[in-house]
Amino acid sequence: MSNPAPNPTPARYWINGRLVAEEDAVIPVTDHGLLYGDGVFEGIRFYHRRAFRLAAHLRRLSDSARAIGLDLPCQRQELVKAVEEIIAAFPEEEGYLRLMLTRGSGPMGLDPAGCSRPNLILIATRLEMVHPELRRDGIRLVIAATRRLPPDGLDPRIKSLNYLNHILARMEAGRAGADEAVLLNAQGRLAEASAENLFLVRDGQLATPRPADGALAGITRDLVLELAAELNIPAREAPLTPYDLYTADECFLSGTGAELIPVREVDGRPLRPCPVFSTLAGAFQQHVRREINSEEQES
Ligand code: PMP
Repeated sequence: MSNPAPNPTPARYWINGRLVAEEDAVIPVTDHGLLYGDGVFEGIRFYHRRAFRLAAHLRRLSDSARAIGLDLPCQRQELVKAVEEIIAAFPEEEGYLRLMLTRGSGPMGLDPAGCSRPNLILIATRLEMVHPELRRDGIRLVIAATRRLPPDGLDPRIKSLNYLNHILARMEAGRAGADEAVLLNAQGRLAEASAENLFLVRDGQLATPRPADGALAGITRDLVLELAAELNIPAREAPLTPYDLYTADECFLSGTGAELIPVREVDGRPLRPCPVFSTLAGAFQQHVRREINSEEQES
């Protein structure tokens, strides 16, 4: 879905303990993150110079790292300081952070035993992931032939540096003239979009695929479920099929980069107007500001 506009705001880089200039933001080609996609990452938004739901992102990063047997090279508090430092150095109040932890440099071969130490990398950048017109009118989805990896192959809760099947799905969307792809799991159930979670609305009720069916436990997804509970919109995690998507009244995506994005078409089938989406998208924007402000006052 990303269709980035030219990005005039220079990014900021932080590697292994310090801010570095763009030309110094390099890691060795022997890093297993590059050689094998061996590492984990997070994408985090900041608003008003405050990282949104940082604790949840750091927890997911630490869980992903533990799940692949990778030790964080520093304490949590140092990570928080690094995030604060790079946000302070960024020229704008709002932006996007990419936090990456790689296995580090090592000899050729899959065995990470010889890797020296993990590389911890932060990038702060502006992110215009979705064109404003698409944000207003909705995006077009296709269901990709490329499937989500089965959880018994790679647990979908691990946010690993290897997104190849998601990239292949996104390429399918591009070839079909659509904006984003939905991946099914090996059983043919809806899992998620290439970099967002999926929500359907039918008869005023919200449904979203289960992590057991291949959905990442998205932090924005959690917030949508919290908001639905506050607004008395019935919501459930459920096994869902393409039929549910084709016959939904509304569909939208959620993600840190995308925030909430309405869908106007799936595989050529138009979706109807979206009152539930509008309510939730309004509540989402309000909630983000409120949560950021309340943290500011607490500190
Ligand atoms: N699924 C995938 C595969 C993703 O990469 C993302 C983006 N992190 C999401 C869902 C949405 O998760 P979150 O709301 O935590 O950004």
